[in-house]
Amino acid sequence: MSNNRYQRQICLKQVGEDGQQKLLQAKVAVIGCGALGSSVANNLARAGIGFLRLIDGDTVNISNLHRQQIYSEEDVRQNCNKAVAARKFLLAANSEIEINSFPHYLNQGNAGLALSGVDLIIDATDNFSSRMLINELTIEQNTPWVHGAVLGFEGRVILFQPGQGCYRCLVPSIPSPAIIPKPEEYGVFGPLAVIAGSLQATEAIRYLINPKDYSSRLLSIDIWHQQMQVIGFQRKESCPFCSDLRSGS
Ligand SMILES: [Zn+2]
Repeated sequence: MSNNRYQRQICLKQVGEDGQQKLLQAKVAVIGCGALGSSVANNLARAGIGFLRLIDGDTVNISNLHRQQIYSEEDVRQNCNKAVAARKFLLAANSEIEINSFPHYLNQGNAGLALSGVDLIIDATDNFSSRMLINELTIEQNTPWVHGAVLGFEGRVILFQPGQGCYRCLVPSIPSPAIIPKPEEYGVFGPLAVIAGSLQATEAIRYLINPKDYSSRLLSIDIWHQQMQVIGFQRKESCPFCSDLRSGS
């Protein structure tokens, strides 16, 4: 059954039998099961990532359904936690992998437990404080992670590799919360969330199959204007978060 399940993927020379084995052995945590997370998790589960930990404290709301394609009206009626509902949906699509739900918001107190034992982390959150926490922990744990963000028709995706730069190399100063546009006011285009999540899943799979040849670049997309940019990324020597100059190292 497994061979048939992944046949169209295994026959891609970039994946092959070896690549599929690496995916089946990989352990990935998806932080946030909303717009991006539901798309990433859907892709990763179907691709055969052997272990997924889904992390989200939120429940499924009717306003989620236009873009979060793994949830149903029944999930809304039952006020289901997203990590729990996502696990159920994804196991129905692939019962041959292990999926663990962690039905809590990530915070300083539970992050160590939530992110333990994984090879790669997906940032599918929608706020800077979670990203800062993920950035800090992944530097400490030497764990690669894929950042994703969407708003309106625009999105961006980048995979950070251990020792090769961090989120703060890319975003040196965090904007004040007062000027950050809120998705509930600004909107998120449904197809964009699916595409950006698929791009995150792609980068995760590319890295897991061949980390030695992976090169981090920022993918920036404006779906309404059919534009996609690929921007080079390098670690900032002066970064106070990931450089050797940071305090305490
Ligand atoms: Zn940095």
